[in-house]
Amino acid sequence: MALGYQDTPMIPGTNWHVHDGERPQPPVVRPTNLGEIAPVLPPEDAIVLFDGSDLDEWAADKGDGPAGWEIVGDAMRVVPGSGGIHTRRDFGDIQLHLEWAAPAEVKGESQGRGNSGVFMMRRYEVQVLDCYENPTYPDGTTGAMYGQYPPLVNACVPPDQWNTYDIIWEAPAFDGEEVTRPAFITVIHNGLVLHHRTELMGPTAHRTVVPYKPHGKDGIGLQDHGDLVQFRNIWVRELKGYDEG
Ligand code: MG
Repeated sequence: MALGYQDTPMIPGTNWHVHDGERPQPPVVRPTNLGEIAPVLPPEDAIVLFDGSDLDEWAADKGDGPAGWEIVGDAMRVVPGSGGIHTRRDFGDIQLHLEWAAPAEVKGESQGRGNSGVFMMRRYEVQVLDCYENPTYPDGTTGAMYGQYPPLVNACVPPDQWNTYDIIWEAPAFDGEEVTRPAFITVIHNGLVLHHRTELMGPTAHRTVVPYKPHGKDGIGLQDHGDLVQFRNIWVRELKGYDEG
């Protein structure tokens, strides 16, 4: 099976098509604490978005009502078909921590195995996917900035084990229709750097690259891609500049 596409536009500044299956696979680097990742508890200035008790901080993408995902132990789990969910709060620049696990039952391949996603400002996807012994197109691999940048490494732990994402997000800024500052993202997966203040080209799209559209602060989204992905221990810190307390 072809891993990706060659009939898509070129990603600007690269020699690769969007979702190019011929692009080199990110090297696999196993985290040393494989299978033993404990929750990283929120610091005292964090806004806790999910601690296992309820989904009050989250709304359904469909209709903005209560989030339709289920709580399983200390985690929340996608209810396929219920749609994505997003935080009721809106954020600008943040530090985000969350943990996720791919379904215990391994089925499907490539993009069809344990797919979900973390959408910064509900527009910019950090891919969630079970890429443990599951190749796919590099710009859709676990931790990819979907359709724009593959992760520097593949740091997946096996299905049903907990992964950590630590994300530093710098929101884009706009003056009218003009982008005055693009978005920048740093992503650390299981302690390994996937992106280091990487400049985004625009919001996430499938099979294409699209320009920015002006927007203000917005929520954090989690994707329902039909797979039983779990999330736990989600917290955020709002980032300010030096001397801004
Ligand atoms: Mg996804």
